[in-house]
Amino acid sequence: MTETSAPAPAPTAQPELDRARRLVTEIPGPRSIALMARKTAAVASGVGTTMPVFAAHAGGGLVEDVDGNVLIDLGSGIAVTTVGSSAPRVVAAVQEQAAAFTHTCFMVTPYEGYVAVAEQLNRLTPGDHDKRSVLFNSGAEAVENAVKIARHHTGRQAVVVFDHAYHGRTNLTMAMTAKSMPYKHGFGPFAAEVYRAPLSYPYRDGDLDGADAAARAIDVIEKQVGAANLAAVVIEPIQGEGGFIVPAEGFLAGLVDWCRANGVVFVADEVQSGFARTGAMFACDHEDVVPDLIVTAKGIAGGLPLSAVTGRAEMMDAVHAGGLGGTYGGNPLACAAALAVIETIEADGLVARAGAIEDLVVARLGTIAARDSRIGEIRGRGAMLAVELVVADTDAPDPALAREIAARCHAEGVIVLTCGTYGNVLRFLPPLSITDAQLHEAFDVVEAALAGIAR
Ligand SMILES: *Cc1c(COP(=O)(O)O)cnc(C)c1O
Repeated sequence: MTETSAPAPAPTAQPELDRARRLVTEIPGPRSIALMARKTAAVASGVGTTMPVFAAHAGGGLVEDVDGNVLIDLGSGIAVTTVGSSAPRVVAAVQEQAAAFTHTCFMVTPYEGYVAVAEQLNRLTPGDHDKRSVLFNSGAEAVENAVKIARHHTGRQAVVVFDHAYHGRTNLTMAMTAKSMPYKHGFGPFAAEVYRAPLSYPYRDGDLDGADAAARAIDVIEKQVGAANLAAVVIEPIQGEGGFIVPAEGFLAGLVDWCRANGVVFVADEVQSGFARTGAMFACDHEDVVPDLIVTAKGIAGGLPLSAVTGRAEMMDAVHAGGLGGTYGGNPLACAAALAVIETIEADGLVARAGAIEDLVVARLGTIAARDSRIGEIRGRGAMLAVELVVADTDAPDPALAREIAARCHAEGVIVLTCGTYGNVLRFLPPLSITDAQLHEAFDVVEAALAGIAR
């Protein structure tokens, strides 16, 4: 198997980051096809791939594949490589740290990088109260630990999550995630004491404003759970996998007020929306919402595995010594990367860059939507944007259209992702290192893809 497949080309220099898209073979090309055959033979089939294309280099707004095709990246490896996938400060910091040491375990002999990341998280996250942070590896692991902390602090067990929520693939976070296929199907039984409340979903909520949507959710929580049993309300301030749903203004604030009044810990899952992605450092900042605990991951470390829970000192410090941790949590390479990411966001003005990307992309999408009623809604913030696709002149979800547009974009060398409970949302998550020219080229392709599909 291995000896018959095409050898990978010798490593070359990173492609120029301001280059245009370039297709030199069909997508996928012969080397990707050969590697996909090896994947099928060697990798568990439960691990799906969006595109059958193997990466050789990536950076700026581009991914170069093993056949020499240069693709435009509107996915950032699912909102991870916010600063780009080979950002110079991140590369240098990781190289330097790898040469110094790769691991000692922070629970055995600690190191400064972990402490420095905690200090930065405490500084950057919403609210100027006294904070503490703890580091983990994945988003799901951090969400689980936020629940552990909230339960320990309150002495209560129940957790409320929302319709369309996505919180991960571990046992507790599967229970917290809404969508059965593919995340939960066949994997039960799920963790107990997880309850689901209705979200604010402006496109499908009729006239319900944010305050009314909060009242609707609170009514469900009070009747079906009871504040006295409730440790935490966990919510994505802008939903990720669930469809990039931005709740109506006032929804999050209404929930926070109710949590404060009832001794319930308000947890913001900013795993996807955090770290400059939405045109603010955190999505909560858009509405001045201050969570008690905030969960971060994805964009935090430029692609290295790192996640965190940051929160009120009295809640974070409620847990006994040894109650939180893990072998790899806050790995030194990941911490070095995170510090370089934060420096890059601040020094390069990437929060503002996300806002500029929003302006460009929303203008492009607006032009398309004005003459095509299959775009039901354009939504999101910053460089976390999406269109919900519907059957023309209705609000009926059209997942086949989303799949077809994505397939045409992929064939033309533009990486786009779909999402949503109904699978009918095309989402755009470009790295903030993408150029305007690359964005325009990518949305030319998106526009042509939609135009080419008969209503
Ligand atoms: C991706 C994601 C997670 C899970 O993160 P992993 O690192 O994949 O475990 C949790 N919450 C949200 C909002 C996410 O987008």
